[in-house]
Amino acid sequence: MKIDIVTIFPKMVQGPLAEGIVGRAIASGLIDVRVHDLRDYTMDRHRVVDDMPFGGGPGMVLKPEPLFAAVDWITEQRRREAEATDAPEPGRAVVLTSPDGERLTHRTAARLSALEHLVVLCGRYEGVDERVREHLATESISIGDYVVSGGELPALVIVDAVARLIPGVVGDEASVSGDTFARDGLLDFPQYTRPAEFRGLTVPPVLLSGHHAEIEKWRRAQALERTRRYRPDLLDTK
Ligand code: SAH
Repeated sequence: MKIDIVTIFPKMVQGPLAEGIVGRAIASGLIDVRVHDLRDYTMDRHRVVDDMPFGGGPGMVLKPEPLFAAVDWITEQRRREAEATDAPEPGRAVVLTSPDGERLTHRTAARLSALEHLVVLCGRYEGVDERVREHLATESISIGDYVVSGGELPALVIVDAVARLIPGVVGDEASVSGDTFARDGLLDFPQYTRPAEFRGLTVPPVLLSGHHAEIEKWRRAQALERTRRYRPDLLDTK
């Protein structure tokens, strides 16, 4: 999968992308992630990416031209590469990070993980000129009902959630299919590791029994119970 992230703070995303599961997936070529500095797509000497909002009000707004130019360039570049390798016409999404977008869920991450090409646009300041949302982005995604200062952390959350659903990215497939939300839309069961007793705190005996069918039954019951207790809304939507 090819992923392009457009931001005015490339370093903010490059660091986290180099670590852990996503870092390994990039190093092994399973995903091809490029981070673009929005200022590289400006036309003026001062590389201006923002301007004052029409109608007045506080703060600045990201201008449309550099974002459109960046997506045009990225699209053209990726298309040329795909042609060179005879790859099929890519399924593609241009995602605008936005607190008023569709809330990110496992289902959205799974849908995006099947695409060939994902572009993520990071907003800043008061946000992004609305024409970007309406005419450039194919969808807007929010990581939750709160506002963070820019689209960089949301972009990292989206890319991480999407990448781990791409086959081969997480070493053990079972580890992904058993995760919270992935397994029948339930929360994960509780995990314990050694020591079996720590400061007088013990672990559920069934886990030490070596009886796999019993362990499976217990885990299933725990997953259901925890979902009922902590996230009954997940059961309602089924
Ligand atoms: N004035 C805007 C907030 C702008 S925050 C409003 O009230 O809606 C600046 C940028 O941070 C946004 O353009 C978006 O790219 C990003 N951002 C902030 N919170 C986000 C969230 N919950 N999910 C996704 N992106 C978010």
